[in-house]
Amino acid sequence: MHIESTLTGCKKFSGIRTILLRPAPEITFRPQQLERAMLLVLLPLFSLASVAMALADILGGTDTWFERYQLIPMAGVFLAVWGWCAWTRSAHVSRIRVATLVLGPGIVMERFLIGLWYTAQYGYSAQYLSSMSVWMILASCLFVFLNPGRGAFIAGFSYYVVAVVAFLVFLAVNEHPLREETVQEFLISYVIGAPIFLALVAGFARLRSAYGSALHKADKFESLAMQDALTGLFNRRVFSSSMRRARARQARRRTPVSMVILDIDHFKSVNDSFGHRKGDEVLVKIANILTATMRRTDDVIRWGGEEFAILMEETDAESAGLVCERLRQLIENENMLPGRKVTASFGVAELIAGEDDSSFFNRADAALYDAKDLGRNQVVIRKKRRPSNPLVKPISDMIDSTNFGKPPTDKPDSQA
Ligand code: GH3
Ligand code: MG
Ligand code: MG
Repeated sequence: MHIESTLTGCKKFSGIRTILLRPAPEITFRPQQLERAMLLVLLPLFSLASVAMALADILGGTDTWFERYQLIPMAGVFLAVWGWCAWTRSAHVSRIRVATLVLGPGIVMERFLIGLWYTAQYGYSAQYLSSMSVWMILASCLFVFLNPGRGAFIAGFSYYVVAVVAFLVFLAVNEHPLREETVQEFLISYVIGAPIFLALVAGFARLRSAYGSALHKADKFESLAMQDALTGLFNRRVFSSSMRRARARQARRRTPVSMVILDIDHFKSVNDSFGHRKGDEVLVKIANILTATMRRTDDVIRWGGEEFAILMEETDAESAGLVCERLRQLIENENMLPGRKVTASFGVAELIAGEDDSSFFNRADAALYDAKDLGRNQVVIRKKRRPSNPLVKPISDMIDSTNFGKPPTDKPDSQA
């Protein structure tokens, strides 16, 4: 899963601003992609159909100019819309949808109306009216299918009503007798067939938009599930996906990855002396310091309670230690509580190629324990050197602790 630390907004908490971090949505199949794919297939087909109809008219010897000449430019227009569609991202496919909705059914309607007019003028001609009703139904459905929603349904239905009204007007003014089958064909197509087909397509379109909004909600819930409600930071659920991404980048760019575990010192006594609510405010303030100081590519996670984890890409342990030292000073110097300094201890480890997530985390956590043991309010880097021959040296020999920043004190913090 791809997760990016994205600044998305601010949350108010007891008058303190918290920067909310939201993971970018996972890349899944979207209805817009289907629409775009459909338009990329349909538009050349429309173009081909226009050319075929024009050729049929020309070869059939029709002497009406509109049929001979209107369809060739139309074929070109469909091809142009196709090019536009190929060039446009799926997210903006709605514009092409609208263009297609105006063009496609527009041509069908125009041909239908002119066909009716010719029939009324010169008598029934199969060339004008046969199979036209099918096109009318398809055109109505196109509205609903390509643009689900109430507006499109109204447009599709109005289109259908205009066609029916035009046909009724035609029946009223037509001087030439119509064949019985023609009247039946129109009645079946319009009065029975079209509404059923429209209802089916509307149902399908409804399902499709319900699917779209379900995907949207799933995205929202997923990002909520990965967010800590108090601080707005990631929670520990993102850890494995953050690690996956960091490893991939490490392998690709051959750059180091470091992890920091930070724990507030004597936080229990903060709660005991100032109350749980004040304790929460301290957590939010520290979260703000972390997000304001870290880069966008670093994942800041509230691991739980008063413990935070930071995953830093393209950062070796020494550089991570320097950042931690800055964070340590910022936290120490921030006036969070009246008459009492809040401090934090930091453990740092650098990822070793081939190391699993829990071993990496445990090394950073062990460095944090060292920082606590050495008197708190300090940064400790835990190094793990690769032995020249891994079979010879026992694993305990490969570990040492490097105190960083404040010199170690044997005496525990005065508030311990
Ligand atoms: P140390 O320096 O060894 O880390 O001491 P500590 O008191 O910070 O450590 P300990 O793990 O004993 O206490 C952690 C405390 O953090 C206990 C709990 O009351 C408090 N805590 C955990 N989550 C929250 C929270 O969401 N809000 C508040 N206000 N307190 C919390
Ligand atoms: Mg603590
Ligand atoms: Mg703790």
